[in-house]
Amino acid sequence: MFKVKSPPPPLFQRGEKEKPLFTDKEHEKPPFEKGGLGGFEARRVLNICNVCGYCNGFCDVFDAAQRRPALTAADLAHLAHLCHGCRNCLYSCQYAPPHEFAINVPRTLTQMRQHSDAAHIWPPAFAGAFRHSAMTTLLLTSGATALLLGLIWLLEPNPNVRGFYRVLSLPLMVWLAVIPLSWSALALAIGWRRYWRFTRPNAALVTWRILWLALQDVVLMRNLRGGGHGCNDIDERFSHLRRRLHQGLLAGLGLSFAATLTAMFYHHALGWNAPYSIASIPVLLGTSGGIAIAFATTGLLALQWRGDLTPTTRSARTANSTVLLLLWAVATSGLALLIGRESAAMALLLALHLGVVIALFALLPYSKLVHAGYRIIALVIERIER
Ligand code: SF4
Ligand code: SF4
Repeated sequence: MFKVKSPPPPLFQRGEKEKPLFTDKEHEKPPFEKGGLGGFEARRVLNICNVCGYCNGFCDVFDAAQRRPALTAADLAHLAHLCHGCRNCLYSCQYAPPHEFAINVPRTLTQMRQHSDAAHIWPPAFAGAFRHSAMTTLLLTSGATALLLGLIWLLEPNPNVRGFYRVLSLPLMVWLAVIPLSWSALALAIGWRRYWRFTRPNAALVTWRILWLALQDVVLMRNLRGGGHGCNDIDERFSHLRRRLHQGLLAGLGLSFAATLTAMFYHHALGWNAPYSIASIPVLLGTSGGIAIAFATTGLLALQWRGDLTPTTRSARTANSTVLLLLWAVATSGLALLIGRESAAMALLLALHLGVVIALFALLPYSKLVHAGYRIIALVIERIER
């Protein structure tokens, strides 16, 4: 009944100042589970969407919202993580600003995600590190790199071994990675479990088929297709670029993980020690993964830099950029280390690469990366309910 025949003209000019629906400062207010302002605004917006129904079909959010007329705090958290931020529903909305209803679903749900992610951080005292992820990332990366440079400077090189192990022994490198990774695995498991218990439907039955369908949604990024014609990556024009770059990033991370597993198999099962030749499987997998990550993060940063700020918030954009820059630094420092592993700069390159890798491991629960688990849970719940 509210449908329009053609998309409206552009709502916002690049650089135009829009009065924020609520300011980034509101993230300091109580978590929305306890009735913060964000929950009130999200209910107002989604109640209008539930009556309107024009955007059903863009993604799973609107159908899921119509199955949840009460819009409880758990419903809002689920809908926020189901939203992939494709922006279609902003540029198609006849009630978007400057209309007096001021409907801005992507921005509202972005704020909900930020509230929800901060509320599920474990331990809760670390929520500040998540809210200020750019500063946390900068401090951790420089601290870890300085620690590694100090260790390399203090420890005597071992002339009896080759490659990286000459300046840092394998057990030391393993411990430096395992300690932050174990802590992060514990923090992620607790946070994701609390989120699952908070948002799961009553009598949820997770079968292998449900997991398989949810996995397809993750890999194919069905909610970033805009129902088929793509997303509003930068402005009101449609494109599939953002989805493809995300899939490239996912593939790059998968290849890098496969490289690590292969190297572990070589070392522990076959007794073949690193460094491996350029044509070996771990190096080929790691190099292709690193190139894919570097390419995808550069593309996503460029899209974000060119994109309209209206559908998101400054703090969300900063958190996104921080994670993309960190992943870019991991990939490019790894590639630089591969190129320079026989050179005099090897020790410096090793400290830089290990420093950003350790920071990445430590930041998994306290950066935008944490959303991956919440989104997978949201997609599993969606598959259970459909
Ligand atoms: S975003 Fe706008 S057009 Fe879309 S369902 Fe909500 S109110 Fe309707
Ligand atoms: S921004 Fe995209 S994914 Fe999010 S609610 Fe709107 S249409 Fe759905």
